[in-house]
Amino acid sequence: MGAEQQVRADFVELYGAEPEGVWAAPGRVNLIGEHTDYNDGFVMPFALPHTATAAVSRRTDGRLRLHSADIEDGVAELRLDDLTPESDRAWTAYPAGVVWALREAGHPVTGADIHLTSTVPSGAGLSSSAALEVVVALALNDLFELGLPRWQLARLCQRAENVYVGAPTGIMDQTASACCEAGHALFLDTRDLSQKQIPFDLAAEGMRLLVVDTQVKHAHSDGEYGKRRAGCEKGAALLGVDALRDIPYAGLDAALERLGDEEEVRRLVRHVVTEDQRVERVVSLLKSGETRAIGPVLVEGHASLRDDFRISCPELDLVVDTALAGGALGARMTGGGFGGSAIVLAEAADVDTITKAVEEAFAAAGFTAPRVFEAVPSAGARRLA
Ligand code: ADP
Ligand code: MG
Repeated sequence: MGAEQQVRADFVELYGAEPEGVWAAPGRVNLIGEHTDYNDGFVMPFALPHTATAAVSRRTDGRLRLHSADIEDGVAELRLDDLTPESDRAWTAYPAGVVWALREAGHPVTGADIHLTSTVPSGAGLSSSAALEVVVALALNDLFELGLPRWQLARLCQRAENVYVGAPTGIMDQTASACCEAGHALFLDTRDLSQKQIPFDLAAEGMRLLVVDTQVKHAHSDGEYGKRRAGCEKGAALLGVDALRDIPYAGLDAALERLGDEEEVRRLVRHVVTEDQRVERVVSLLKSGETRAIGPVLVEGHASLRDDFRISCPELDLVVDTALAGGALGARMTGGGFGGSAIVLAEAADVDTITKAVEEAFAAAGFTAPRVFEAVPSAGARRLA
């Protein structure tokens, strides 16, 4: 049974009726542009084939019933009028937060029965949380005929995660899940949410992109994320700009000089400003068909995250170093950091050797075995049935 049929059958068993529809929303991998999204900068994610799939029906009685096939727990029953930010520490906060955000924005959502399952690895930096939010938002947008455009659904999902769940994340993950297209990476300006779909079909050019999930969970990284974010805001304030996005690459040296002995802020600013420039370089390389030349830019990005932003970890560094030693075109950590996943760009012919080398290096270092899979740029959120 495919995911869609399974979710539908489980829904019928749980709630005693057919769902009105089934929707899917993917996780994402960020090709380049890390920790730029809360600095009004550029990001470039693409959607994974891994998705959250939800069967959903409307209710009219102000109740929300939630169930996940992947969590050992019964059906959670909530009353819409009781939904309160930061009141829920369980997984249910993600879908409930979306309902809360829609209602808070004045959209007439009167209740729902939701059953979902996800193939996006959780806590691996691949945005399983955004996949959950976006699949629920798209389903409710369709069922209640809200007519909201994708970018606005992403905004509401971000609000759900920031305010209702209480996780201070940027807009990239939700926009990627909602707006990506198969065979493309999404060049997103997080200041005005303008988007460009950039063709990114590695297979056609004899290359592959591997995702290496280090299995190191980033769950305890919230405090560190908050510190980096606060440091970036401090940098912008000291430099008298709205956001670090406003520091042009050509003005970086002057900006760093102005920051004087604020050593930590200087490092954070240097990462963000150079990272925005790396996104622009990757976009222009891809546009001019120089796909292999993005490899060194990815490697630079990793060094910047490791040395300036200081959010890598031994496992992520080992993936990058081993892959490069094994002939990869480029590699870097991806996602928020402190664990999660790395990406490796390689010639198709080198994939097996590199995979084996990474697995052996992890075993030799005594690390938990990594999960390695190929990431094909896939479709964004969609209705399945
Ligand atoms: P990431 O988004 O990088 O995977 P997060 O910590 O942001 O990591 O989100 C992970 C959380 O999302 C999980 O702790 C869980 O609450 C929720 N989640 C992810 N997948 C599922 C699922 N299949 N069923 C229920 N909850 C899920
Ligand atoms: Mg997340």
